[in-house]
Amino acid sequence: MKTKQCPLCKREVSELLYDMHIATDELKIKLIKQKFPDWSEKDGICEPCHERFKKMAEVMDRSKAVAA
Ligand SMILES: [Zn+2]
Repeated sequence: MKTKQCPLCKREVSELLYDMHIATDELKIKLIKQKFPDWSEKDGICEPCHERFKKMAEVMDRSKAVAA
């Protein structure tokens, strides 16, 4: 099985769990870059990290909607 090291959590994960669709969501990318300035969307992230930041972006989106 091919594995890749996630640049965020440093875990070895299966390439199948690797999510490159991350590049489609600007808010998610912004959040990740805030925490990991050296990261670029070309690096990709593993699925658990993707989920983590996806939820974070959703929460931020919601609080923005409330404030507006
Ligand atoms: Zn990860």
